[in-house]
Amino acid sequence: MLREHLMGRGLRNLSVLKAMRDVPRHLFVPEAMRNLAYEDCPLPIGFGQSISQPFIVACMSILLDLRPGMKVLEVGTGSGYQAAILASMGARVYSIERIPELHKAAAERFRRMGTESAAINLFLGDGTFGLPDYAPFDRILVTAGGPDIPEPLVMQMADPGIMVIPVGNERNRQRIVRVFYQNGKYSARASRSVSFVELLGEHGWHTDRTHPTF
Ligand code: SAM
Repeated sequence: MLREHLMGRGLRNLSVLKAMRDVPRHLFVPEAMRNLAYEDCPLPIGFGQSISQPFIVACMSILLDLRPGMKVLEVGTGSGYQAAILASMGARVYSIERIPELHKAAAERFRRMGTESAAINLFLGDGTFGLPDYAPFDRILVTAGGPDIPEPLVMQMADPGIMVIPVGNERNRQRIVRVFYQNGKYSARASRSVSFVELLGEHGWHTDRTHPTF
């Protein structure tokens, strides 16, 4: 995966490559698909959701420009793989998921793996509100695509801070947007096109066509 799909496509960020080498992706995919764990494709994790493609996980992690010790909010825990990558890079991760079954499965997975609870804190709820009790965050990573940048997340950025979020006005087509906050001023830059599952919630898309829980 590292040689062919990441370095082979020009990715050179050593701390991201090291994390992608060290975190066993096969432990985050359903058992029946473990033979595909190191292919460069998203895989279904149930409830209409997916674990993202390794190349995209690496790109998002690079765009965060992370340093050890930083406090990171992830919206969309899913399998927990991206959270594990960020923790492996030395971040203190706060990750929120809206689907109870995925939240529970990720918590159980980290428990079995012996992941330190100080490194990854998992929450259940609508992540478009962020986690105001734990803000501000040095970095915010949203791993689902919404129609806009949720205002509560903008308010929870540290100064200086960076947010990486897929945004698009079609439900399954977005551009990755990087929001910078420095000296009290915001700026934003869009980069590659991506296709993430929907960011559902108060400050995301409003109707859930796949899961009735929230
Ligand atoms: N980061 C995940 C991983 O490494 O497996 C992949 C995330 S998956 C592409 C997107 C996740 O975002 C799904 O699990 C979905 O339920 C979740 N999600 C969508 N809207 C959400 C919201 N408002 N709050 C929290 N999680 C949300």
